[in-house]
Amino acid sequence: DTSFKNLHVAILSSPGMGHLIPALVLANRLAAQHSVNVTVLLVTTAVSPPESKLLQIPLHRDLVRVVELPPVDISHLVVPTTQVVAQLCVMVREALPLIRSAIAAMDRRPDAVIADLFCTETAAIAAELGMAKYLYVPSTAWFTALTVYCQVLDREIEGQYVDQPEPLKIPGCKPVRPEDVVEPMLDRNELQHDEYVNLGKRYSLFDGILLNTWEDLEHETLQAFRENETLRSIIEIPVYPIGPLRRPVEPVDVKSDLLGWLDRQPNESVIFVSFGSGGVLSAEQITELAWGLELSQQRFVWVVRPPTKGSVDDAFFNLGTDFDGTPNYLPEGFIKRTQNKGLLIPMWGPQAQILSHQAIGGFMSHCGWNSTLESITSDVPIIAWPLYAEQRLNATFLAEEVGVALRPRVLPTKEVVRREEIESLVRRLMEHKEGQEMRDKVKKMKISAMEGLKNGGPSYKSMCELLSKIAVRKGNMNGLVG
Ligand code: UDP
Repeated sequence: DTSFKNLHVAILSSPGMGHLIPALVLANRLAAQHSVNVTVLLVTTAVSPPESKLLQIPLHRDLVRVVELPPVDISHLVVPTTQVVAQLCVMVREALPLIRSAIAAMDRRPDAVIADLFCTETAAIAAELGMAKYLYVPSTAWFTALTVYCQVLDREIEGQYVDQPEPLKIPGCKPVRPEDVVEPMLDRNELQHDEYVNLGKRYSLFDGILLNTWEDLEHETLQAFRENETLRSIIEIPVYPIGPLRRPVEPVDVKSDLLGWLDRQPNESVIFVSFGSGGVLSAEQITELAWGLELSQQRFVWVVRPPTKGSVDDAFFNLGTDFDGTPNYLPEGFIKRTQNKGLLIPMWGPQAQILSHQAIGGFMSHCGWNSTLESITSDVPIIAWPLYAEQRLNATFLAEEVGVALRPRVLPTKEVVRREEIESLVRRLMEHKEGQEMRDKVKKMKISAMEGLKNGGPSYKSMCELLSKIAVRKGNMNGLVG
């Protein structure tokens, strides 16, 4: 049975576009395909404008309800330099009483809570209120394995992870190169390292983990979760690969200059350049990138943001203040010289819509997992330019395991990528056979991924399996009560 219309599920989303988007997309999926009633609870903060304002994801309003919790104020708990993961953990911790009372006050108590990866502390609330509890990691199984196994690495490894001479071994999974570790593992002296280790420890409090990946893409790692005894001695709960879930392409605005321009370009001839919801580059890197694009003589659409003097994820909590400034930080004359070849979008662009346009043939991306899935499901290969979070891991996976991405020789967070290399990467992706082969590969991948989502496909079945468990539990509880 594909209908679970008696179920009510609460999805908890931590702040940030990269968390909100997958939460809403999951809600839609549960409603549209399985008739589940969904309440999405958004943790919001006083410092960032509610992300929902930036989003126009059409929701199944009859079944999906979105509740923005009152903003939490963490200004007395963090300093401006507190890193993103630590901030997220503090925000969710402060919001716990709000989450609890919002759920307790609902007319209809949810049968299950699905908490996103930063909302792990809500396991206790779910237990107290008698709900099933699942975790949603809107990323890969590989990243999830690293998160869970970090508690062991923390015990066994001395010194910084990034200084280890050998790749970090995770049972049953591909090892992680020290320079590819996730942001909170870069420096073990930072608060966010301990927060991250504790997040991973709490994963095992849940009844299962939903992953935005799919069986074909990560079979080996998913098997490790199911069968590897060492990994299972740390976490023994089922994993549900339900992906690729991605946001729908918003309705086309026919008057848009951007789409008009794209319509006039040949198929697969434009590279889209964008670094996610939080990504910003240094002034020097922006100059090199502008020159690299110009030298490549390829068509481009670039979401530009002013340079950062600080960290590459500076826009994570602070986007949305300046939407239409003229980009005066680009090389002199750049805009004029490239006016027939390129289009600049300040701050934030309709990415899903752009990627799905037939004119787009490549994506220079920070490799956030939402962006990656949007690219793959739009038949677009990638130039991997990882900046923060788990993006170095994603970039390595895409370039070395899946073979749908090219990478600069240096890590963009460590060194400036020079214009000659950027020119060459863009040409290789857009003009050369190598790029065409990757494009063909992405197209094949997309077909198999979409098959998996259809009725009867592996991702679809995985979701049904999860919902059946929630339904059986609900039945048992009712039996007990009745
Ligand atoms: N996004 C967008 N326009 C932009 C930048 C980002 O619509 O200019 C969306 C993008 O389509 C994706 C999400 O924001 O759905 C970013 O999520 P991702 O996981 O890729 O990265 P992160 O949020 O970690 O930067």
